[in-house]
Amino acid sequence: MSKMLQVVDELPLDRVQLFRDVSQESLQGIIDSCDFRDLPSGQILLRPENINHELFILLSGRLSVHLEDLDSDPVAILEPGEVAGELSVLDGKPTSAYVVADEPCRVMVMPRELVWSLATVSHAAACNLLTILSGRVRKADRTITDQMLRERSFHCYGTVDALTGMHNRYWLNDMLGRMVTRSIRSGTPLAVMMIDIDNFKEFDDSYGHLCGDRAIHAVAQTILGHLRPTVLTARYGGDEFFVAIPGVVVGQALEIAERLREAIAGTEIPSSPAPLPPVTVSIGVAGVNRGQGVDDVIAAADAALYRAKALGRNSVSQ
Ligand code: GH3
Ligand code: MG
Repeated sequence: MSKMLQVVDELPLDRVQLFRDVSQESLQGIIDSCDFRDLPSGQILLRPENINHELFILLSGRLSVHLEDLDSDPVAILEPGEVAGELSVLDGKPTSAYVVADEPCRVMVMPRELVWSLATVSHAAACNLLTILSGRVRKADRTITDQMLRERSFHCYGTVDALTGMHNRYWLNDMLGRMVTRSIRSGTPLAVMMIDIDNFKEFDDSYGHLCGDRAIHAVAQTILGHLRPTVLTARYGGDEFFVAIPGVVVGQALEIAERLREAIAGTEIPSSPAPLPPVTVSIGVAGVNRGQGVDDVIAAADAALYRAKALGRNSVSQ
């Protein structure tokens, strides 16, 4: 079968961005000189700072584009008919992003000279290239705007909680997203905990808000003191804390949670003239599963916390 027919077999030609309104005669010779490449899921097609002389036309599958690293949220998802690598092919400079196969993909590989030949023989193809490029510029503008808005919101809220020195939930949402993506991509387990002080309103009412603050501080210190620095910890809300432990399955996390619960229940709250009795916490533990996003993971930990509270408080549940 000719390569032209192979392409048509995978995808109608008018679905390929670059070929839209280009005559079959202009395409025939060009396509016949291109190769095809099959990419298994997870294969990196392009990485930043590499020199690239080829344009890739996606025939089937899905490619994702990442700017910072492979764990960052994709800035774009490419569907069949879309192209990758066009910027570095056109300006001869190193590539600027990671392009990775999200699932098994088939791409047509068009060397740089052929891209220019096509643009020379077909006015429509040259226009398509310009349309593709302007799409990229607009996309980049949007990414920059989103980033600026995100930084501005971080700026408003700050990322560190003043009372405990832990990060806050705005920071958590961002970091947890990366951890969840990394865990699902690499198959490394990730366990999370939602920790909430029991009957804290009563504590505040009995001893006053200042002592309440000291109790929150003491609980935070105990949590930080019992976990390795690679563990993500955050003050999630008033008397709630969130912990994410990479490389740990739910069973191990339940044991860690149990040790934390005991430690907190044994920590007196500094006060003068005498320390106050310890507070207790309830802890909900959950694992991260394929297909889950940050909100699902937090909701699972919250649901487990609810079960721990229902057990009578000062307890751990999954
Ligand atoms: P439960 O066992 O169901 O969690 O009961 P609770 O009383 O802890 O739950 P609730 O969410 O009703 O109350 C949380 C209380 O935490 C409300 C508020 O008085 C107190 N709180 C929240 N943030 C702070 C804070 O920054 N400092 C102090 N001192 N108290 C706080
Ligand atoms: Mg509480």
